Formats: sequence, structure tokens, C-alpha cells
Amino acid sequence: MSDNFDVIVIGGGPAGYPAAIRAAQNKLSVACIDEWKNRDGSAAFGGTCLNAGCIPSKALLESSELYHRALHEFATHGVKLDGVSFDVETMQKRKGGIVRGMTQGILTLFKGAGVTPLTGHGRLLAGRKVEFTGHDGARRILQAKHVVLASGSEPMPLRGVDFDGERIVDSWGALEFAAVPKRLCVIGAGVIGLELGSVWRRLGAETVVLEALEQFLPMADGQLAKEAARHFRKQGLDIRLGAKVTAAKVEKDGVHVSYADAKGAQTLVVDRLIVAIGRRPFTRNLLGEGTGVVLDARGFIQVDEQCRTGAEAVWAVGDCVRGPMLAHKGKEEGVGVADLIAGKYGHVNYNAIPSVIYTAPEIAWVGQTEEQLKAAGRAYKTGSFPFAASGRARAMEAGAGFCKIVADAASDEILGIHIIGPMAGELIAEAVLAMEYSASSEDLQRTIHAHPTLSEAVHEAALAADKRAIDIPNR
Ligand SMILES: Cc1cc2nc3c(=O)[nH]c(=O)nc-3n(C[C@H](O)[C@H](O)[C@H](O)COP(=O)(O)OP(=O)(O)OC[C@H]3O[C@@H](n4cnc5c(N)ncnc54)[C@H](O)[C@@H]3O)c2cc1C
Repeated sequence: MSDNFDVIVIGGGPAGYPAAIRAAQNKLSVACIDEWKNRDGSAAFGGTCLNAGCIPSKALLESSELYHRALHEFATHGVKLDGVSFDVETMQKRKGGIVRGMTQGILTLFKGAGVTPLTGHGRLLAGRKVEFTGHDGARRILQAKHVVLASGSEPMPLRGVDFDGERIVDSWGALEFAAVPKRLCVIGAGVIGLELGSVWRRLGAETVVLEALEQFLPMADGQLAKEAARHFRKQGLDIRLGAKVTAAKVEKDGVHVSYADAKGAQTLVVDRLIVAIGRRPFTRNLLGEGTGVVLDARGFIQVDEQCRTGAEAVWAVGDCVRGPMLAHKGKEEGVGVADLIAGKYGHVNYNAIPSVIYTAPEIAWVGQTEEQLKAAGRAYKTGSFPFAASGRARAMEAGAGFCKIVADAASDEILGIHIIGPMAGELIAEAVLAMEYSASSEDLQRTIHAHPTLSEAVHEAALAADKRAIDIPNR
């Protein structure tokens, strides 16, 4: 096998593997190096997303939601069950099968595209050389015309709280529980904390979520965050804001979690503790001497708008660079860079990256919130439509939540769309497309939406922005 490649990608997660595939589609010779090892010791491509993030969490969210609905909703539909139970082992097996299938699928994609997969550690050296150490310990020096760094991120640790992999775990550990903990504490009410808390709460865990900030979901539209908090609390998630965790210790009777809130020092005893306070870029042992690649104060690889590092023909994409830590953001960067390397057009529209929280109800948004527009002093108008007025949502027994559109007061350009409700993560795709094409709310108003579908809520919200909604009174 040659040791010379047009492109070497270090990291085979959702930022790295699409970069490798697109580069190969662009007729370049490509190798993709990844060092991920699963708990059974097997190597796998797909990074955090496929092995320990997006995919396994969605598998467990789906299973736990089905159980929750069987228990609490089926009777409303007239579906009667004689007792409902669940089996965590089966849920975990199903999840494992999905992860295995998806990660092995990447190898099939690599084969089809002509990408050389290399399992082991990659380290960039000066002059675009890459030191590759295979999982078997064999070391080789490879040479590339271009290198793409896609080394991803890792869970942020919390001072005073040591992971033991059993009682005190990170998000990956929380996806591997073999049984439902009776008492659970999640530190961090961000996207990951809420999703993992929801999984185990639905299966019966008494769940406390401790959040240091006073504000719930500060990155989301305020109205959306308020509605979400109401639903989560109704589901039994005990969300405590302004609660700063100072220490956690494993004792005989459980994990003792110490935190301080407005009332002073508090202690909580639980069976399992999940630390989900965020993620930080992962670049350990990635860069040799004299590469010219620079890290910023927070440890991210410094890049320009087009993901160029300071070093010639060295690029960086995904969670290891600035911007939201999302799989689809990394994928777009990876594909964009592979096109730029081939002399084609590559571009990421950072203003139209959707965010989704896969709870029930689901939460999704793209663009700016009302709060951001107010702070910027921009004149805007809004239109909202509640799912309670959507025929399809009512038929699904999923009338909670709403869709809200924010548009420029003068030009009518859509500036943001915020959804809490059924399939919000799917509905947001229309909003992203609209924003990608700089659509106005009138463009959406004049677009036919099939009836009865959930997407009519987006249509009606657009109409409501000009007080022309049909299915709700206009105020
Ligand atoms: C529980 C959880 C749920 C999530 N859910 C979602 C979701 O629903 N939607 C979403 O968009 N995002 C979600 N995310 C975030 C998403 O997983 C990340 O944004 C995404 O994986 C980042 O992709 P990446 O390719 O940049 O990095 P990663 O996926 O972290 O992949 C990096 C890869 O590079 C390898 N690597 C690192 N350094 C080296 C080296 N020197 N040599 C060889 N290999 C190396 C790593 O082993 C890893 O395999 C979730 C994350 C978690 C933890």
C-alpha cells in the first residue's frame, strides 16, 4: 500500500468520514485514520456520533418513548393492554445492533468510494507528514498533499466529581446502563442532559437535573424554553436551576452530590450520577513539533471561515473547531473542505444550522431568537401557531407546543423559526431550506402544504406573521 495520499483525514466521525468520501468522489487518493475503540475493544469508524452520541441516544429515546406512550397514551386511543413492561437488555441489544450496523456501513461506504481506512492513531508532523500507529503497534510515516484534522471532542469533566465508570458516568456511560437506576441525578440541563434524563425518567428513574445557570435553555427562544420546562416538569424531571455542584462522592448508600443554590448548601443521594456539562475539543497527541497549527485559549484548533488552519494545506473541521458541536455542522464542513481541496466551491452557511433536542415534545430551531433580535435592535414581526389547532397533531394526540416564525419587519425575510411539538426535528428542515434561500414569510405563505400534516403549523405560523392565519384567530 502506498504511503502517499492526496488527502489524509485524521478522525472518522461525522466530520471526518464525509470529508474522506467527498475527497474520493473528487478523484483524490484518500486515507482516513481513526482510533476509536468500543468497550469490547473493537475498532469502529463513526466517532462519538455513531458510537456514543446521536445514534445510540436516539435509539434509547425511541424505545423509552414507546414504553411511555404504551403506559400513558394508548388507553386514550382505546388501545387496551394487560400490563406493560420493558426489558432494558433488549433495548440495549437493539441499540447495539443499530450502532454496529451503522459503523460497519462506513467501511462499506469507504470501499465503494475508494477510501483507505486505517485504524489507529494519527499524528500530524511538519511538512504534512502523518505518523500513523496502528492498533497493532506498527508505525508508519505517511505523506499527504492535504491533511484534514477531524479529531472531535470529549466530555467535559467537573472539578470535584471523578468518573468511576459505574456510579458516576459521562454521557457514554449513561447510554450503557444495564438497569434503570431508582434515583438518578443529571448534572447539566443542556441538550445531552435533557435527552439522557428523559430516557431514564420515562423508564421510571426518579430524576433530578441540576443546572448551574439560573436560566433554562438560554440558547433557545425564551417562549420555547418556558414551554419546554413546563412539559419536562410535568413528566417528572425535577429540574433545579441555579444549582452549582461542588462535589460528588460514592458512599455505601449511593452517590452523595453536594451543590449550592440560592438557599445554601444542599446534598442529594442518588444511585447513579451523569455528568453532562458540555464537551471540549479533543486534540491530545494530535500535533507534533513545528506543524504550524495553532490552538485557541479554549483548546479549539484555530481556523478561518473556510476551515483553513494557519498551516499550509492543513484543514480542521467538526467539534475540534469553533461553532456548534453538532454532527451536521461537522459534516458540512468536511464536505466543504473536500470540495475546496479539489478546487471546487465549498461553503457552510453558519447562519442556517438547525438545533434539535429529541425530547417529547421535540424542540428545534434555526436562525435568531426574539431575544437576540431585540438585543441587536432589529425590527421584527412574529407569527405563532399552536399544534392544538393542527388536525394532524390532534389525530396523533400530540397537540402540545407551537411553531413560531420571526421575520424582518420591513423586508419580511425569515430570521428564525422555533418549534416545540411533534416531529419538530423533521419540520425544521423546511425552515432551514427557507432560510438557505433567504425566503420571506410570504414565500412560505404561498407554498402549498399537504393537509392534514404537521407542516401546516409552519405554514399557518408564516400566515400569522401577517395576521392572515386561517385556522386560528389573528391577534
Ligand atoms: C450523547 C450525545 C448525543 C448527541 N446527539 C447529537 C444529535 O442528536 N445531533 C447532533 O448533531 N449531534 C449530537 N451529538 C454531538 C455529535 O456527536 C458531535 O457533534 C459529532 O460527533 C462531532 O463529530 P466529529 O467528527 O467532529 O467528532 P467525533 O464524532 O468526536 O469523531 C472524532 C473521531 O476522531 C478520532 N480521533 C481523535 N483524535 C484522533 C487521532 N489523533 N488519531 C486517530 N483518530 C482520532 C476519535 O476517536 C473519533 O472517532 C451528541 C453527542 C453526545 C455525546
